[in-house]
Amino acid sequence: DFDLTAPFQTAFTTRDQHEHRHKVRPVQIIAPSSTQPGKFRLNESALNSVLGHSACANKKIVIISVAGAFRKGKSFLLNFFLEYLYSLHKSQQSDSSLEWLTDDCQLHGFHWRAGVKRDTVGIWLWGEPIMIESVTGEMFAVVLMDTQGTFDNNSTYQQCMTVFALSTIVSSVQIYNVVDNIQEDALQHLSLFVEYGRIAMEQPHNFGKPFQQLVFCVRDFKNQEEYEFGENGGTDFLDNVLQTNPEQPEEIKQVRELLREYFEDIQCYLLPHPGYKVAERQSFRGHVKDLRPLFREELKKMVPNLLGPHILKPKIVNGKTVTCRKMIQYFKEYAASFDG
Ligand code: GDP
Ligand code: MG
Repeated sequence: DFDLTAPFQTAFTTRDQHEHRHKVRPVQIIAPSSTQPGKFRLNESALNSVLGHSACANKKIVIISVAGAFRKGKSFLLNFFLEYLYSLHKSQQSDSSLEWLTDDCQLHGFHWRAGVKRDTVGIWLWGEPIMIESVTGEMFAVVLMDTQGTFDNNSTYQQCMTVFALSTIVSSVQIYNVVDNIQEDALQHLSLFVEYGRIAMEQPHNFGKPFQQLVFCVRDFKNQEEYEFGENGGTDFLDNVLQTNPEQPEEIKQVRELLREYFEDIQCYLLPHPGYKVAERQSFRGHVKDLRPLFREELKKMVPNLLGPHILKPKIVNGKTVTCRKMIQYFKEYAASFDG
């Protein structure tokens, strides 16, 4: 049997997909409670709208989260992830070669902004999972997570801790976004947050390490004479930051040991400054040709290294891989456990 409409169908589908993507937005699933200061509420209908569709409900889920203080380029970075994943999806569907971050590309999706006015504290998901075929041929539902934290005062610190802990618990990859360096206080916050998360999730000990992958992403790294940009320099840099020795004070050692004990894998990427148009211009609209070429090059290497089909690992909870449907339930349980 011939289906004469098939080629047209394909053409339409591609165009529809393109238009469809422009309609998708991030949705806030965790927001500060309006009645109880310092507490959060889970937006269940938003969560269901992302993970509850029949097309993905039974697929294994991969959650990529970006966390850290505000105004450090987290949302901007996520748009590179979107660009890569949608291009990868398209190339897999049409069996064509993967092209992304081309000269004509304009980054969009997660809202980034100049200035000092911050977004509300909370957790956002990209409005739909992006389906990626892994090396084994299995389809994974890849979900991007944007978080917003701040250390302004006691109540926001508590919120920040909750946001960080919750996003660490649910993600396959937690990207800790910092600027310039990995400072001691950034490590201390991190270890406090993950400890808080580990207690909240109450995982039995026999299931191995509680969390999967931690990636330090150092923005505007300046010391490239000593450490080269990207993964190689990042690995050396991180080894140096996380090394322990008997002379160190006990608390410095503990922070490092805790991170190694809690995460299966820890990586680090050093990124160059993105160029003055990105960093200083209100008029920057996401055009890839406005990026500093060195920055673009490093992102072209880093993103496939984090999200490539051979790299993606579904979320595992208590030793079992998790589907989108199951994840909805975990979100509810974890969010409730932070409520006490
Ligand atoms: P977020 O609050 O951490 O999500 O930060 P945004 O993604 O909203 O970015 C805040 C500002 O920093 C925007 O004006 C971006 O254009 C700019 N920006 C994005 N990435 C970088 C970077 O790597 N270095 C610098 N210096 N600025 C950046
Ligand atoms: Mg942001």
